[in-house]
Amino acid sequence: MERKFWTDDEIRSLIDVVFRESDDDNGEKKQDIMSYISSRILPVDNVKFNVGNAPEERRKLYFHVFKRCLGYVDKGSVFGCLIGGAAGDALGYPVEFVSTGEIFAKYGKDGVASYRLSSGEKALISDDTQMTLFTAEGLWYARENFGNPSLQNYIDEIYNAYKRWYSTQTGGYNGNENTIAEDERLNVRRAPGGTCLSALGSGKMGSIEEPINTSKGCGGIMRAAPIAIVMAQNDGYSMEEAAYLGAQSAAITHGNQLGYIPTAAFVAIIYSLLRGNTPVGAVLAAKDVILKIFPDSKAAMTTAELMDKALYCAKADISDIDAVSSLGEGWVAEETLAIAIYSFVKYSGDFKKALSVAVSHGGDSDSTGAVTGNMIGAYVGINAIPDEFKKNLELYDVLENMSEKLFYDVKLSR
Ligand SMILES: [Mg+2]
Repeated sequence: MERKFWTDDEIRSLIDVVFRESDDDNGEKKQDIMSYISSRILPVDNVKFNVGNAPEERRKLYFHVFKRCLGYVDKGSVFGCLIGGAAGDALGYPVEFVSTGEIFAKYGKDGVASYRLSSGEKALISDDTQMTLFTAEGLWYARENFGNPSLQNYIDEIYNAYKRWYSTQTGGYNGNENTIAEDERLNVRRAPGGTCLSALGSGKMGSIEEPINTSKGCGGIMRAAPIAIVMAQNDGYSMEEAAYLGAQSAAITHGNQLGYIPTAAFVAIIYSLLRGNTPVGAVLAAKDVILKIFPDSKAAMTTAELMDKALYCAKADISDIDAVSSLGEGWVAEETLAIAIYSFVKYSGDFKKALSVAVSHGGDSDSTGAVTGNMIGAYVGINAIPDEFKKNLELYDVLENMSEKLFYDVKLSR
């Protein structure tokens, strides 16, 4: 079934109908829309309407509910997801190896809240964004090469893309396939993860069935968002299939269950957000998915428990520093996920604050920033990302171009 893609303008005009409360001409139409929403959405998410929210807040709420209702993935969320992730990566990269104490001594009580620009006046992205772009390109190639790709086609092309990334890190890419690997700005080393380099350098493709090592580092999760972007736009794939593809993509380089199961959860969260779920709703849905697709897995239980703890901390009266340190440092995938969930759920209406909390700690700040940025960007959309995080962001043109490709062109049904 070919899905209907709604434009932002179409969905906003629907919202306008609902908002024109004194307009009798639209009374019947408004009633239709509201009863449709009530029947489809309210029982699921318990979203409350007309309970005194400010008009702008209500408008935002309607926007998400309409998306959910119509199965609509909007362009702004796709761009927001990729660019938000790069922004979090760039914010955290300068403090990846700086302790919590040093961060607050140097940046003040709010921690890292704005970019530190390089000598070229750019906020530099790290390996997290590089690899995310290659994940995206792999998915794109699968579409180009196979027309209507199978899940195996997708994973094979993601592996090929990671090999291209590997060549950019080890002497330069010298193929001629019209790939982002030919962009010299991507042929630079930005603290690439040792596990990714050694796994890809082995010449073997790791998988869930044949683990390539026992690593549970965060190198698999921090690059996986594009998988959710492609799967969420395709009616042929369930959230479970999307999550499993996420796990397979992580297992290319990370063989421990705790290296790839949190990646499955992350992909499910982004998938669910892109389809209009609420922040807490998306996390809970993702938790159900990993427990379902990895039954009897201790690692799935561990991941689910840490996701619950992150949700608990986001509601508890506890300082951000204490909350984040209780969740870990983010060097391993389940901690990266938990810190991102905490930062996103607690500050889902405040992009800058969410990213700042996600990176202002002594752990793997660029990866926790990247994963948080993917989540909140998917939720609020590109227009809600403050200009200061778009301006000077390195590779912005490449990120926009890749977002465009993922939104318009990879929309097939099986
Ligand atoms: Mg990095």
